[in-house]
Amino acid sequence: MKKAQKIILQVLAALAVIILIISISLHKKETSYTQEELLMDTYIKITAYGTDQKVLEEAVTKAFLSIKELEKITNRYYAPGTDEYQNSDICQLNEKAGLEEVKVSADTYEIIKKALYFGELSQGSFNIAIGPVMDLWGFGGNNKKVPEDGLLEEALKLTNLKDIALNEEQKSVFLTKPGMKLDLGGVAKGYGAAKAAEILKTEGIEKALIDAGGNIVVIGEKEPGQSWKIAIQDPSDLKKYFGILKLTDQAAVTSGDYQRYFESEGIRYHHIIDPATGKPGNKGSSVTVVAEDSAIADILSTTLFVLGKEKAVELAAKLNMDGSFGNIEFVFIEKDGSYYVSQGLESKFTLEGNR
Ligand code: ADP
Ligand code: MG
Repeated sequence: MKKAQKIILQVLAALAVIILIISISLHKKETSYTQEELLMDTYIKITAYGTDQKVLEEAVTKAFLSIKELEKITNRYYAPGTDEYQNSDICQLNEKAGLEEVKVSADTYEIIKKALYFGELSQGSFNIAIGPVMDLWGFGGNNKKVPEDGLLEEALKLTNLKDIALNEEQKSVFLTKPGMKLDLGGVAKGYGAAKAAEILKTEGIEKALIDAGGNIVVIGEKEPGQSWKIAIQDPSDLKKYFGILKLTDQAAVTSGDYQRYFESEGIRYHHIIDPATGKPGNKGSSVTVVAEDSAIADILSTTLFVLGKEKAVELAAKLNMDGSFGNIEFVFIEKDGSYYVSQGLESKFTLEGNR
């Protein structure tokens, strides 16, 4: 080799090394930031991934702030006479039931509107006016007990969704009968998780995992070309997973008979009420709904649980035909452990262990 050629080769090699060093230093390492807080009566955990710690921290903090704000306006359990009670839309609405309409915040109005839409669609299986019935059972407090049938019958008279009047222009809501009580427990967490996800995205986050007490939202992919793996609990053995769902840019929300319950005389009573009877729904063990919007997934997980599998299939088909809420898919686990996976999830669901 001539000397000149040798020099050219050496220069090229040196250049290659320099380019490699520059590209490595430009490609910053991925890092993550996690925050966990007890909010909305559950643990909420958000992990955001990216290259800049400060950006991640700020985004996650903002997301939590919005969930905190949401809790303040939707919580119905603040003590009368406190500032919190005064500032909570739901405390105010419930206090003014039968008396006057209440102007509410944009978020509260939006939640109520969405909830009523699905309430109507499910012929009342999703019912945010379930408050008086929840209170008889003592869910939300420390004194849980099985109520007498007569009392349940009376309380059920206060759960008619037609007795909720919305005023779109004023963004006000009127519970027209005294004693009515809204309870957003079946939708607030999902709505909060959806809002948190929106905020993270606005802040430039492209990869994150939100877990709001079983209301999961994943942003982006876990790794390039690789979905997030989300476990579905086994209702009959909470130490085990029933199955795994692979998700990308989606929400998954589970409603189950094992999440919140008490036992009386050997019988287990859980917190998802069938508004047709005023008693815990008994048509299944758990439902996991996968949708784009976690508020919708939250509403539907409760709704499909109450409806039971057959009607759940019908409702999901109807929604998917219409398409307004994107694709709605679900896994329904029956009380005997048998299960149903909707078509769109078949390739995303793996049964766990030795079933
Ligand atoms: P979790 O709160 O455990 O995530 P869900 O999303 O299914 O479970 O919500 C259950 C909560 O929703 C109850 O604690 C109660 O506040 C409320 N709720 C109970 N039954 C109904 C119903 N039929 N429709 C709407 N909300 C309900
Ligand atoms: Mg729900």
